[in-house]
Formats: sequence, C-alpha cells, structure tokens
Amino acid sequence: MEKLQALLNIDSNYIIIGLLVILYTMEQILNRPFSFSKRPQHLLNNILFQIAFFIANYFFATFQVFCIQWLNNNHIGLLHLVQLPFWAKLIIGVALFDMTSYWFHRSAHKIPLLWRLHRVHHSDTTMDSSTFFRGHPLEILVFGNASIIAVALFGMDMLTFGLYLFIFIPFAFLEHTNLLFPAWVDKTLGLIFVTPNFHKVHHEQDQHYTDSNFADIFIFWDRLFGTFKRKPVKEIKYGLSEFDDAKKQSFLYLMKCPFINITRVSSEELHQKKKE
Ligand SMILES: [Zn+2]
Ligand SMILES: [Zn+2]
Repeated sequence: MEKLQALLNIDSNYIIIGLLVILYTMEQILNRPFSFSKRPQHLLNNILFQIAFFIANYFFATFQVFCIQWLNNNHIGLLHLVQLPFWAKLIIGVALFDMTSYWFHRSAHKIPLLWRLHRVHHSDTTMDSSTFFRGHPLEILVFGNASIIAVALFGMDMLTFGLYLFIFIPFAFLEHTNLLFPAWVDKTLGLIFVTPNFHKVHHEQDQHYTDSNFADIFIFWDRLFGTFKRKPVKEIKYGLSEFDDAKKQSFLYLMKCPFINITRVSSEELHQKKKE
C-alpha cells in the first residue's frame, strides 16, 4: 500500500508533460493515420486549453478533496456496507468512477446546456495526443462533480481516486494519439478497455458516431449500455461540421463558444450537406 501511495504521489503535471513529449515525438516519427499541415500551431492552441484547465483545477481540486474526505469521514456510499479485499475494493472503485464518468459524458451529449461546454473537446478537426487537452475549463464543473457524485453513491476513498486519475491520464492520452494501432489491439484489449481506435469513433463528425463510445477506461460500459460502435480509423472525419471553419478553431473563439448559439448538425443534415 505504501508503494502504491508513493506512486500516486507523483505530480500529475510531470506525468502529463512526460507523456506529451513521448507521444508527440512518436507521432512525428512513426506512420500515422491522420496527416497534419500545421502541427506546431495545433499543439500551441491545445496547450492554451491545458493552462486554462490547470488554473480551473487549482481551485476546484481543493473543493473536490474536501467533499470526498467529508463523504468518507461520514461513511457515505455503498462500499462502506460490504467487506472486500484491499485490491478488489481498488479495482471495483476505479471501475465505478469510470462508470459514473460514462453517464456524465453521455449526459453531456444529450443535455444542450452541457453540450455547449463539451463540444469544445469535439471541435478539433485534427487529431493527435494534444487533443486530450482540448476542453473548456468550465467542463471541470461537470466531470469534477462526477467524481464527487461517484464517491457519494459508492464510497470510494482518496487512494482509489488517486489510482483512477493515475490510470485515466495515460488512457486519455493514448486514445487521442495519432498512431496506427494493429487490429489485434481492438480484438483482445478492446474486449475490456477503450482502445485508441474506439475513442476516435467518438470524434467522428457524424452524430451517429459522436454519440457512441463514451467510456474513458473500460469499454464494457458502452457494450453493456448499448452505445458501442465501430468505424475504420482511416474513414473518420474528425470534429464537428459546425466548427469546420478555421476561425472557429481559435482558442478565443472556443473559450467563448459555450455562450454562443450554434445549432448542432444532425446525421441527416450532414449527409444532405455532403450530397449538395
Ligand atoms: Zn464526448
Ligand atoms: Zn476525446
């Protein structure tokens, strides 16, 4: 347990910087499914989102830790009612954080007010590991609260929350990375975990696919709740057609976009547009 605690004490910012350097370099050297024209600009734009998130998280994390500790001290949540081995409690806890995030993510696609924030993540018309950073800082109010709700329902402790984040970060990076992954990855690991090819389907412009593959770590939530879909990576057109214009890809526009009325383009409208 002490070794695990020491591992989880590593500053997540070091992990984020390390993974970005490794994956960004690999994407530059190795074969990739998506070809870029302005990769450095894309990286700088996405780093601005990460800085904005870092500032928002600085304040929100204090509130989040306070809430989780208060819920734990008062023994609130289902896991307080059962006796489980240490490792079982950790694994089940991570899966329950992931399941709660699945439902919050699915709601962010269904509820128009939440979609205004979440569409910033989907707006990226290109795709590489830095797309993980693309998200509105106010979205922390949605997904940050998802973790608090998960603890209120199921009673996970801070150690489990730390482990969940420790697993979530590399998964989220890899899922957006612009590298070719062999088919066996989807056929084996993809039975349980979200693979990069599966998450890329979630970034397809066509709403039929955008509204699928919501999970972050365990794909079995999508398989179980009927939202799992496939599409070959090379056929995916990334982004949202309402954000196709280069001006709508700027940091400032995307920071303002939750407060701008933008009609979401449905699958039918997108297919009609393609025919014209
Ligand atoms: Zn989404
Ligand atoms: Zn994504």
